[in-house]
Amino acid sequence: MKEARREARGQRGPRPEGLACLLSVVVPVYNEEAVLATFHRRLSAVLQGLECRTEVVYVDDGSSDYSSVVLQDLREQDPNIAILELSRNFGKEVAMTAGLDHARGDAVVIIDADLQDPPELIPRLLDEWRAGYDVVYAQRTSRAGESAAKKATAALFYRLMRRISHVAIPVDTGDFRLLSRRAVDALAGLRERHRFMKGLFAWIGYEQKAIPYQREARQEGESKWSYLALWDFALEGITSFSTVPLKLATYLGTLTALGAFLYGLFIIVQTLVVGNPVAGYPSLLVAVLFLGGIQLMALGVIGEYLGRMFEETKGRPLYLIREYQPPSRIDPRRPVED
Ligand code: UDP
Ligand code: MG
Repeated sequence: MKEARREARGQRGPRPEGLACLLSVVVPVYNEEAVLATFHRRLSAVLQGLECRTEVVYVDDGSSDYSSVVLQDLREQDPNIAILELSRNFGKEVAMTAGLDHARGDAVVIIDADLQDPPELIPRLLDEWRAGYDVVYAQRTSRAGESAAKKATAALFYRLMRRISHVAIPVDTGDFRLLSRRAVDALAGLRERHRFMKGLFAWIGYEQKAIPYQREARQEGESKWSYLALWDFALEGITSFSTVPLKLATYLGTLTALGAFLYGLFIIVQTLVVGNPVAGYPSLLVAVLFLGGIQLMALGVIGEYLGRMFEETKGRPLYLIREYQPPSRIDPRRPVED
């Protein structure tokens, strides 16, 4: 059905074939010295089987281990590798954006370096792109090697986001996906500092398609996400894409005020009917503390949004580049812009 609709709207659009087509693979790297070589071996095995020409943009997100040395080694052996070194650690979301800004492909794949996203899926992503889709995302059917608690919190988060934000963020989807040129260009226009990429990917719209796959456990090293970091991430997602928490404060306030009013009525009636034995101190204290608590909470919620506005208004660049090394085999048809 959807297929037919897309056809009718004429959105299939020509996709460059063979050597005219360039696929970029963007890989954010932060302290991944242990897996990088294995990762690149697996990735290039897949890329070699493709019809398109390819480039791999490794974004060194301020790694403090030997990742940059490993990357230099790889680049000496493989002319398709570009290395974008950021001036410090900016976090994965910004690293991905930096990579997208420097990717020149007609289609761009974003993939983690830790081999949790299987590179073998790339040909299938590319097929869907050829079929006319703009965003082809890999959707996990399993999360091997992750604790039950992590799975449960992740599931809860995606469902909550779907309910309270106006963009439909697909469930169980990471950043592993393929973007068409126009999707990349659209994303490049969204320069907010607080980047909740999963939300931004969904915000741009266009034709999107899910490809189910089994997520593997991390091969080496460990996840950089502590529970605190995940909490921050969830907060980021919610505050970037929903104002429901602000409304919640209003409703909660209204509800408490209403409760207080009814309780007041009850006290008046009670005094009239049974008189007023000197009581009321405990209920007074409870009411005061309760209201104080609610007010502080509402202030906190407002503060979250205010803090983000403060960050945005400074208008700083998203990232700074220490060095950009383009692929050494430069294609004359696609000049590298710096
Ligand atoms: N990463 C990054 N900057 C950071 C943290 C992570 O570029 O500050 C990269 C990391 O090297 C990996 C990807 O982002 O390629 C995913 O990181 P991780 O495996 O820690 O996250 P998870 O898979 O647990 O979501
Ligand atoms: Mg990982």
